[in-house]
Amino acid sequence: MGEKAARRVVTGRVAACLGAGWLLCYAVLVGAAKGSPALERFVTDGLYLVPIVSSAVLSVVAARRLRGRGAGMWRLLAASYAAQLVGEVIWSSSSYLGDGELPQPSAADAFYLIASALAVPAILVGFGGAGLLRQLRGLLDAFLIMLGAGALGWTFLLSPQLTGSPDAAVLVSAAYPLLDLVLLTCLAVVGFAGHRGLPRSTALVGWSVGVLVLSDIGYNYLVVIRGFDVYDWLTVGWQASAVLASLAGLTAMRSRESEPRPQALDRNLTLLPAWFGALATFTCLVVDKIRTDTVSVAALMTTGGMVIAVLVRQYLFATDRTRLARQLQAAVAEQQRLAVTDGLTGLYNRRHHTEMLRAEAERAALTGRPLSVVVVDLDHFKQINDTYGHPAGDAVLVHAAERIRRAIRATDLLARYGGEEFVVLLPDTAAPEAMEIAERVRTRLAAGPIPLPQHPAVTVTASLGVAVSQWVPGTVPGDALALVAEADRALYKAKAAGRNLTVLATPVPVVH
Ligand code: GH3
Ligand code: MG
Ligand code: MG
Repeated sequence: MGEKAARRVVTGRVAACLGAGWLLCYAVLVGAAKGSPALERFVTDGLYLVPIVSSAVLSVVAARRLRGRGAGMWRLLAASYAAQLVGEVIWSSSSYLGDGELPQPSAADAFYLIASALAVPAILVGFGGAGLLRQLRGLLDAFLIMLGAGALGWTFLLSPQLTGSPDAAVLVSAAYPLLDLVLLTCLAVVGFAGHRGLPRSTALVGWSVGVLVLSDIGYNYLVVIRGFDVYDWLTVGWQASAVLASLAGLTAMRSRESEPRPQALDRNLTLLPAWFGALATFTCLVVDKIRTDTVSVAALMTTGGMVIAVLVRQYLFATDRTRLARQLQAAVAEQQRLAVTDGLTGLYNRRHHTEMLRAEAERAALTGRPLSVVVVDLDHFKQINDTYGHPAGDAVLVHAAERIRRAIRATDLLARYGGEEFVVLLPDTAAPEAMEIAERVRTRLAAGPIPLPQHPAVTVTASLGVAVSQWVPGTVPGDALALVAEADRALYKAKAAGRNLTVLATPVPVVH
């Protein structure tokens, strides 16, 4: 580990200890302040602001230091933390300066909700690499969770307590945990479920949101449902969330974390929101029916919304899978092509040629048709390499391959056998025609110099060996590779006879 990295780790640990220490002191002070309104106010409205200010400041620094997606996410988080801070300041100042009573709902509520709402796009931008489809699916999942949780919360918690229609204060209080659930789902579905190598700072943002959600649910339960207005201990949860957000900002601005990479196949956990939403709305329908013996319009509309959301979600899911399947298919096809192709010339490689030779030999044995093989070896090729260098030699090989390809028929199978040696398989071809094609290859190769980048053009010639086989129909062909060996021997005769020649092998004996 480098010195800088080691220092970063130490600073990170110190910051984590400071954060934990702060929380401990805060909790102790909350306990100690009971019974002393002045101290209590100082702790829960004054000290309380410290980590929130720090999260806002650190997120601004992180947004300025980072580039790319990280910067986008931290800019939105900075706006979210700033909105949170404004909300807190309104809340605290009213309790300090005013009579302590804010109207319900208040301007502070508006800023708190804006803060939660801004965090949703922050997370979606942070995981932007997951693609538009996945982000849409993440939003839909968030919607499903929200609808399901909203329906459950309404049926079991709110509606039994309410006599008249709900007022704005109740609705605003219910909006907190709902928005938080949306946030958490976005993180879980778009983030954790679909990414590898999640940066530590993003994970800390996730923890921060998680703690926030729990505290909000606790607040909602105590204040809205139970009507308590004592919730000091809950402020420890919100403090913890702000401390985690500060640590996340510090981590993001100090380390050069890699961006999270989306995973091609997400985990099957992604079906959970749909399951939850569907079961929740169904439960509410049943409870509605049992309690009132009818199903309310609201319950029906929730169910309708749920059905549509699940259908759209499944459509997006299927589209995503189809796209992945297509990518996979293309990748497999490319791998198959690469497996049979010579990298330099784009011709078939030796391995594939041997397979084709075996197949053609069997076919020839069945039909009794002749099969010919031509081996082509460039003359004095080493000299080209020695004179102009290996890259020039490569360029000559590519040109030579192209000339051979043009000289043969579409049904002939050409491969680079190795180095400067090529083999052509001529199905259904007897000696005279094979010799004709081989000669055409030889003359085309030598016809005109091959241009070279940065060097004078070179003329190449080649020596060729031709072998022809005819198997007796209905018998198993002998070693098909023997045909290539035979052509090779003829090739050496051509070399020995002075090169730039085609030699026909002495007829291969018929294999019984
Ligand atoms: P001969 O006429 O007897 O065939 O002489 P030659 O020089 O062509 O034959 P030799 O087998 O001695 O040399 C073949 C050379 O081909 C040697 C090797 O460096 C070169 N070679 C093999 N593969 C490649 C390649 O992929 N690129 C390049 N540039 N050269 C290659
Ligand atoms: Mg050779
Ligand atoms: Mg050669």
